[in-house]
Amino acid sequence: MSALRVTRQMLQTIAGHGWRSCSSKPAQNLHIGKPGAGFSFELTDEQKEFQATARKFAVEEIIPVAAQYDKTGEYPLPLIKRAWELGLMNSHIPESCGGLGLGSFEACLITEELAYGCTGVQTAIEANSLGQMPVIIAGNEHQQKKYLGRMTEEPMMCAYCVTEPGAGSDVAGIKTKAEKKGDEYVINGQKMWITNGGKANWYFLLARTNPDPKAPASKAFTGFIVEADSPGIQIGRKEMNMGQRCSDTRGIVFEDVRVPKENVLIAEGAGFKIAMGAFDKTRPPVAAGAVGLAKRALDEATRYALERKTFGKPIVEHQAVSFLLAEMAMKVELARMAYQRAAWEVDAGRRNTYYASIAKAFAGDIANQVATDAVQIFGGNGFNTEYPVEKLMRDAKIFQIYEGTAQIQRMIIAREHVDKFKA
Ligand SMILES: Cc1cc2nc3c(=O)[nH]c(=O)nc-3n(C[C@H](O)[C@H](O)[C@H](O)COP(=O)(O)OP(=O)(O)OC[C@H]3O[C@@H](n4cnc5c(N)ncnc54)[C@H](O)[C@@H]3O)c2cc1C
Repeated sequence: MSALRVTRQMLQTIAGHGWRSCSSKPAQNLHIGKPGAGFSFELTDEQKEFQATARKFAVEEIIPVAAQYDKTGEYPLPLIKRAWELGLMNSHIPESCGGLGLGSFEACLITEELAYGCTGVQTAIEANSLGQMPVIIAGNEHQQKKYLGRMTEEPMMCAYCVTEPGAGSDVAGIKTKAEKKGDEYVINGQKMWITNGGKANWYFLLARTNPDPKAPASKAFTGFIVEADSPGIQIGRKEMNMGQRCSDTRGIVFEDVRVPKENVLIAEGAGFKIAMGAFDKTRPPVAAGAVGLAKRALDEATRYALERKTFGKPIVEHQAVSFLLAEMAMKVELARMAYQRAAWEVDAGRRNTYYASIAKAFAGDIANQVATDAVQIFGGNGFNTEYPVEKLMRDAKIFQIYEGTAQIQRMIIAREHVDKFKA
């Protein structure tokens, strides 16, 4: 048995016993609801262990190769395999399907560390969670065992196919349609910007099943699980993006793709709610990814500021630079608290839409600010590919775009806030 297999088993053992009894999942957290009690910033030993494993992996295995993957755009398959072996991906797959069944809080701790190493790698891993989430929240036992179970048996990717060339933020504007013919649905349409699009074993796909344009979104769309090797699927070229370049992003055409009715999630018409509901669970880890990037930028800038001298002293001794570092540190700490709150709400079994959008919007913004400030602290070197921070600045931008743009998050926060105020 390989050392990695042993580690994975060890992590699974932790997850199955001590870990779960200490996690922030609702059934175990007896303090929820008692004011003051149960509120702690201290991680459990098991949480620290997961964090340390992810941190070691990021520092020792991701960081040394991240620049090369960024340069070539090659998919980081060896790193994904290692993450899988170490139990650092798919952590929320239920134990009934062979997974670790960890809470959102723990998954976020792991994600922050992976992102510290490289957010291209982290996004490839996180896109698996996004693809799986509709099946986790809405799949029946057979669907979960079949599609989540196989991901625990070998390193395998899946993808979330919702966005189209003509509709991203306006999800209800998607045109891909599914028509029922006997015991199957026939799918036609085009998806765009699909992370893991060329690497996935299966897709979650949202399609319109009610042709009536007046049908409400809550009834017009259906969510399907689609095998990626189904006849009629044409996978587009790998897109060359500004950052996170080793992540695989593609357009996909679906032409008369036949899907058995058993692969419908819940029922015809339930798809919009499922597709949107998944975001409540996946936005906290996206925010955690943004925090990991920002923390990396802060650390790189601090190290540089201690070494680089101008006017006879290290630049960290110039107040303008040290105050910039202080601002960066404030943002990292507050964004981390935001994602932890959003994840904790999930694990407490509560509707977390408001907190998930706050965390995602805030962390996405501060990742961009902190990465830009890190480039500033590096001066001319910051603008150069020989130094790590220009990659961080390019990688950061997408956190304000995918899984709902910065503007869409503000719309959600404003709506939730006003609803709460009125109630
Ligand atoms: C690298 C990458 C990976 C991605 N991965 C996936 C994936 O795996 N699966 C998937 O389904 N999608 C994925 N996406 C798509 C992503 O979620 C969308 O790009 C995003 O939701 C924005 O949609 P859009 O690009 O169509 O922009 P648009 O919706 O056209 O928006 C354009 C601009 O208008 C603003 N805007 C739009 N509507 C409003 C409004 N009502 N009020 C104020 N401002 C508004 C937006 O904020 C944005 O600034 C990915 C995208 C990228 C670039």
